[in-house]
Amino acid sequence: MKHHAHTAYLLLGSNLGDRVVTLHRALVALAGKAGRLVAVSGVYETAAWGQEAQPAFLNQAVQLNTDLAPEQLLAACQQIEADLGRERLELWGPRTLDVDILFYDDLVLDTPALTIPHPRLPERLFALMPLADIATTYVHPQLGKSVADLLADCPDKLPVEPWLGDL
Ligand code: ADP
Ligand code: MG
Repeated sequence: MKHHAHTAYLLLGSNLGDRVVTLHRALVALAGKAGRLVAVSGVYETAAWGQEAQPAFLNQAVQLNTDLAPEQLLAACQQIEADLGRERLELWGPRTLDVDILFYDDLVLDTPALTIPHPRLPERLFALMPLADIATTYVHPQLGKSVADLLADCPDKLPVEPWLGDL
């Protein structure tokens, strides 16, 4: 089996179109062009964050083992977003697919194009809940807290529910 050099955790989100189909297609695309899918969380439904007057999101976290460098991985994620029909209309507005990099090994990176760990992870229950399915013991490299602790300490009050629809 091919060994990949790096471990990344990604968050997928969709709130336009057929959300479940979009998540499936994103998983297939990631496995096809970015690396090996090692773990996939459950699917969660979440009221939209930032701007609340828009359709609810489905979110899913994945562990991807990859040989891509962080900037290459971001480019691959953005290509997949584009392939799956994302239109960039407004920041935090509706989108068919959003792919965010949450963690990349123990890397701490802050450039204009890419911040790792994802800066808003600790305040986003919709990211921490799915991530806790697959990475409870993973320690945030800047905060020194596990994902389980981040989840327990998250102040976000927006409800995040396990998705009970057909997958
Ligand atoms: P959001 O995910 O916050 O809703 P976007 O998906 O529109 O917003 O992302 C805007 C920009 O955020 C992207 O163009 C990308 O360059 C940048 N970015 C910075 N850090 C990350 C990260 N860890 N994962 C994904 N995008 C990131
Ligand atoms: Mg994004």
